[in-house]
Amino acid sequence: MPLFCDVALPVPLDMTFTYRMGDYRPAVGARVLVPFRSERLSGVVTALHDREPSMQAKSLLQVLDGEPALDGTLMELGQWIAHYYLAPLGEVLRTMLPLAAEFKKVKVYSITEAGHEALHASATLGSSRRSRLAADAQMLEYAVLDYLAMSDEALETTVRSATGAGRDMLENLVRKKWIARRDASSARDARRTVQIAVLKEVSGTLAGGETAAGKLNDNQKKIIGFLEANRGNAPVERIRELPVPRTTLATLVKRGLVELREEPADFNVTSLKKLGPKHLDFIFNPEQKAALESIQKSVDENKFSVSLLHGVTGSGKTAVYLAAMQAVLESGRSAILLVPEIGLTPAAAANLHQVFGDEVAILHSALTGDERAEQWHRIRRGEARIVVGTRSAVFAPVDNLALIVVDEEHDASYKQEETPRYHGRDVAVMRGKLSHAAVVLASATPAVESYHNAHTGKYKLLELQQRVERRPLPEVEVVDMKFEFQRQGEDQLFSQQLVREVSERLERGEQAMILLNRRGYSSVVLCRSCGEVLQCKNCSIALTFHKSGHRMECHYCGYRQAVPQRCPGCDSEYIYFLGAGSEKVEERLHAAFPQARIGRLDRDTVRTRHDFERVLSQFHAGEINLLVGTQMIAKGHDVHGVTLVGVVGADYALGFPDFRAAERTFQLLTQVAGRAGRGETPGRVVLQTFHPDHYAIQFAQRHDYAGFYEKEIRYRRWMHYPPYSALANVLVRSDKLDQALQWTGQIGKWFEGTRKEGVRVLGPSVAPIMRLKRDYRYHFIVKGAGREKLNNILRQMLVFTVEQKIPRTNVIVDVDALSLL
Ligand SMILES: [Zn+2]
Ligand SMILES: [Zn+2]
Repeated sequence: MPLFCDVALPVPLDMTFTYRMGDYRPAVGARVLVPFRSERLSGVVTALHDREPSMQAKSLLQVLDGEPALDGTLMELGQWIAHYYLAPLGEVLRTMLPLAAEFKKVKVYSITEAGHEALHASATLGSSRRSRLAADAQMLEYAVLDYLAMSDEALETTVRSATGAGRDMLENLVRKKWIARRDASSARDARRTVQIAVLKEVSGTLAGGETAAGKLNDNQKKIIGFLEANRGNAPVERIRELPVPRTTLATLVKRGLVELREEPADFNVTSLKKLGPKHLDFIFNPEQKAALESIQKSVDENKFSVSLLHGVTGSGKTAVYLAAMQAVLESGRSAILLVPEIGLTPAAAANLHQVFGDEVAILHSALTGDERAEQWHRIRRGEARIVVGTRSAVFAPVDNLALIVVDEEHDASYKQEETPRYHGRDVAVMRGKLSHAAVVLASATPAVESYHNAHTGKYKLLELQQRVERRPLPEVEVVDMKFEFQRQGEDQLFSQQLVREVSERLERGEQAMILLNRRGYSSVVLCRSCGEVLQCKNCSIALTFHKSGHRMECHYCGYRQAVPQRCPGCDSEYIYFLGAGSEKVEERLHAAFPQARIGRLDRDTVRTRHDFERVLSQFHAGEINLLVGTQMIAKGHDVHGVTLVGVVGADYALGFPDFRAAERTFQLLTQVAGRAGRGETPGRVVLQTFHPDHYAIQFAQRHDYAGFYEKEIRYRRWMHYPPYSALANVLVRSDKLDQALQWTGQIGKWFEGTRKEGVRVLGPSVAPIMRLKRDYRYHFIVKGAGREKLNNILRQMLVFTVEQKIPRTNVIVDVDALSLL
């Protein structure tokens, strides 16, 4: 019998911790509550063994799961993520389990001997000549001591509400050793439970009322029949609504025909009002049919495979994968669909309910912790075999997984930009591999890496080159803004052509859309006297002027300040507002088209999923005929039916110091262009740029993904960028400049000794955003010919940083980094 267990805890350390099990018998993959330093933490058991650790092992406090929360495959997936992304296993497993709501953080306080003395002394002390503020604070401290003197221990919430003391004050008292704090956290059952009646013997019960246990009377038959009609189980509460005596159910239980269980309740437990899946008969063109057949063949083989479903915008990719998922559901297996963050509007969710009935669980970012936990349990119990969600839905605990679909697989929101820095698409591929499932990556503009994998035969390529009903692709007109500037003599937001085309559309009663992928009013505010640019106080980023809120805002850390009347540097009055954002576009459109009904979609106007939906429905209803916005309007699946798309400042992202800038620009332009065209009316796109010769612009103009890919892949090969190398960004950060420089220097020296091992290190250099959220930042770009070599070096580097006592949270390793800023 093993005496110890290893537990992965959510702390930034690359190790597990050994605990003595005592009388507990947790399974590998189950959560346990353990003491860690002065806290209580919940972690996941990774191993059971008999090896006595060198240090005295503490004992488990509680076992939170009777059954493993993570099964063997998910544990393996977690280990893979920790290894591949060099992330602490405990932090990976915490990300995989959305059950934080079931664990309640509780702190309790008690008064110490020194606290008693201080309290006693205060009673004999007269009032001193301190300031009133200090005196008030002192009074409050004594109030806390006084309160705690009355009892042994009190909850933090109670102390605070009884005395009005803040967290800082309690912290201060702990530091003075006047009071002591103890972590009394424990598991709480976040779930309401209901009693469920379960039919024990499903087959052959009804025929003539004969069962193994003897005859059934009419009342008993009613209950059995009711249970059979509901897949063998129903809440007891519902059975009580049947016209049978209350004792009938008890009799059935006594006879062993029905069993009662406590099950967590959730919002959908009403298996009676069941909305069954609707069989959709899609009408497919030959390309779609071939793609669907290929996917279904992969699913039926029960073998791991990856298909890249590449279809031009409007080619009906969604219908193909929904049909494949429906077939999976009908065959009794499970499927997961990942969508980008913006893809899950309430309308999209309603559609999915239409297709999959109650068998679908939808995981979006607006769920509360409790709701998230309830959905997790529902999936775990097998009640929802279709899971749709953003990035982390890839960890859904479905059984018998047959298919994972990643929609818009190129979307950057699949990459998590905090530890663990995993990519949802790549984790989906690995999960498919571990589960012997089919994986489908869908996009009109696949990531260069994915298309490369399809080209080299690693993935199967499924192409949809025709739009449904053979609708033509929109015509794209490129307007060179350099000429526009010469012609009009001043910097114009809109070209004459765009103005002309918008007016034509409005006159004809059609709708148009304008994209400027930058929010706010002016992106740069500078002083004409001394040239100073107004910067965020936490970041080396120019503050954006927001006219409606009359404030300056940092788009990276959220810092806000008032709009200055004078230059903070030289006190001159000549403050200049340069650069445009979506707010300014909207204002200028109002001026140019006073009769237009204009709506705007960006992060300032869209605070919740419902805001997004509201603007869109106004647009669909024709209450808005001109829609302005950031990339939200390009990505929103539901934005369609316009006859003109204008792109203002298409190329400002091309200037970013990032090797993916061209790819991102091409993708954004292609996606937004795809929104143009309604029914038989072909759409038109007016694309304004200062770089009309750039290949990203030119290939987007021709809707030529393959052409773009050929050009881009050559550049990647020359430069040894992915997919021709494995790449990681190593970022060193500290709020103290000296420290950031010192650590960077130490790591740089260490890397110098490793250059000959198949890895190239670029840097150290100042990160493109040198200061972010108060931290000074330096980075290295590390490229390896092979994945293993790269990860070995990075792992050794992390060991080195531990030896040098550089905190793990100050050295960020971002494997397959999407952003190098
Ligand atoms: Zn100035
Ligand atoms: Zn900032």
